[in-house]
Amino acid sequence: MLTAAEIHALNRRFEHEPTEKVLAWAAERFGARAAIGTSFQGAGLVMMHLAKTHGIALPVFTLDTGLLFPETLQLKRDLEALLEIQIEAVQPDLTVEQQEEAQGPKLWKRDPDLCCTIRKVLPLQGKLGELDCWITGLRRQQSEARSQVSIVEVYVFDEATRREIVKLNPMAHWTREAVWQYLREHEIPYNPLNDQGYRSIGCWPCTRKTSQGDHERAGRWTGFKKVECGIHTFMSKKADFEI
Ligand code: SF4
Repeated sequence: MLTAAEIHALNRRFEHEPTEKVLAWAAERFGARAAIGTSFQGAGLVMMHLAKTHGIALPVFTLDTGLLFPETLQLKRDLEALLEIQIEAVQPDLTVEQQEEAQGPKLWKRDPDLCCTIRKVLPLQGKLGELDCWITGLRRQQSEARSQVSIVEVYVFDEATRREIVKLNPMAHWTREAVWQYLREHEIPYNPLNDQGYRSIGCWPCTRKTSQGDHERAGRWTGFKKVECGIHTFMSKKADFEI
């Protein structure tokens, strides 16, 4: 695993290097135990395209909650065809119907934290058990909660064993404008819901359109204080160094 000095040096270096170099470093250092996790927001599409066009072999996975928009599932198929890759769909233990039987109908309306734990956090924990480096599309501009994200972070993945995992956020310093300029320039397919006023797209029950001036993620979990699904907050950070 990385030392504190390495994390510090890598963060200083990666702030000024092209994103494909960060991805190449992950592939070289961790091999198949590094993977891009995507929910098909713009940043994930950019990373997948950069990896493909620079010949960087990185597996890709997504958390398929069973409640994704049909447009999102179609985008997954389109990207697989365009980039000639397979995107692993990591699924919860319970189908939506089994969850209804166990927890009652529309859990997301009553206890979205529990719903996200069942449908996102636990499946992700299972997937991360196979990895040493999880590559995300987090960007600082997305929300207050994400404004301090570093490119290289280390988390304690399992409190019992103190097992660690590198969380790599190569898109941390990208603006929304830069992401969309890249997607347009390279004619990369994107979620058509983006053209209908949705700016951050998750499960259909918990996603709404946003207004100008809102944070990108303001359209998630309307009516709740919740701003994160939990996949980026369930682990404790091992080291936090200034960039
Ligand atoms: S985003 Fe909503 S529907 Fe999806 S897992 Fe979380 S609470 Fe459930």
